[in-house]
Amino acid sequence: MSVEDLSKALDGISISNDNVKKPTGEDDEKHTKELLVVSQPDEKPSSKTGLIYDEKMTLYSCEFQHPECPERISRIYQKLIDEGLTERCTVLKSRPARNEEIITKHTEDHFDFIMSLVDKNKEELDRLACDLNSIYLHKDLTESALLSAGCTLELVDQILKGNLQNGAAIVRPPGHHATREQSMGFCHLNNVALAAVMAIEKYQLTRVLILDWDVHYGNATHKMFDDDPRVLYFSLHRYDHNSFWPNLEETNYDSVGIGPGTGYNMHVAWNKGKIKSTAYLYAFNNLLIPVLEDYEPELILISAGFDAGVGDPLGGCKVTPYGYAEMTKRLMKFANGKVALALEGGYNLSTISRAMASCVLTLLGDSVEPDFTNKPGPPSDSALRSICDRYKGVFEKPTFPYDFPPSCYIYGINKISNKA
Ligand SMILES: [Zn+2]
Repeated sequence: MSVEDLSKALDGISISNDNVKKPTGEDDEKHTKELLVVSQPDEKPSSKTGLIYDEKMTLYSCEFQHPECPERISRIYQKLIDEGLTERCTVLKSRPARNEEIITKHTEDHFDFIMSLVDKNKEELDRLACDLNSIYLHKDLTESALLSAGCTLELVDQILKGNLQNGAAIVRPPGHHATREQSMGFCHLNNVALAAVMAIEKYQLTRVLILDWDVHYGNATHKMFDDDPRVLYFSLHRYDHNSFWPNLEETNYDSVGIGPGTGYNMHVAWNKGKIKSTAYLYAFNNLLIPVLEDYEPELILISAGFDAGVGDPLGGCKVTPYGYAEMTKRLMKFANGKVALALEGGYNLSTISRAMASCVLTLLGDSVEPDFTNKPGPPSDSALRSICDRYKGVFEKPTFPYDFPPSCYIYGINKISNKA
């Protein structure tokens, strides 16, 4: 069966492609530019959407030009101010994460390492960084790392207390590559993982979804909950046949968790760049949403990296601000709308600012309408293969706990095709 046949078979259960014209290369760029122009704020109350930010998280930087720069969060926050979104949201007071919160998922040694940075000179910091994967160190990292984790925890705490419906944490350093023992991939403390543990331990939740749309695989988050069915970790990321960072075998679609956590790790592993919003929404509609209808998450934490965004220098993909808004909107239908975004990666300052603004608009209940001249077409062949690989993985692993509509199974689709 060809990918084209598979695409046709899937059309009936996915986004409508009626009257679709093949999009031109300009479409993503065009509606990226027009997104915020066409999104009209409405009069809905805004106090139930939270924002959290602290400019102290801009104090550390690399001495050389580096994509993980302070402007990532200052530009996003300025965009939220410029769009009037900070006025419409409840802006929370920042706080650092506490030792007892951090060691739920990190070792005492790693906590001590983070705390020790503030006392080290430049030569010592550079020497330490050499032993780590994709890390630069700075004496002001300690305060920022504690604030980044603490702000994420505070946002989720306020949502679970019922003081907020949803919200976004504009934080750095990011977190999803930070392992129990080590900083990695620009990340130092795993903000979202710590928030998930708080939800489980403080609020006794038993079903937390971590949705990771950062273009990189969240290796540390995956490992921290690999055997834990209380957290469903669903990631969409570039794999490129294991040639995309972090170059780990477990990044692929057939990594599904271990022991009691089997089935609670789900990966859509793209094998090429230039992935568009349509591919992400296709995966949402056909894979993630059916799972969530069964799983019924009580809380949704989004590892909201925007480095799959259009124009990102590291990601090489083409997801637009509207695409991120649509993904957010779909997730808000679950967990009684308890959705928290925490910034992960994303290195095109313009794209990440507009993407976060579009997500916050969505959290506020606004419609973010794209101005397509052509409706989007189906995903690329490569993207569709990646989505279907995950179906196939489901089919081949009978321990997977979810039932999909028969047409979702690659073999089911084959049967339909053979009858025709
Ligand atoms: Zn990333």
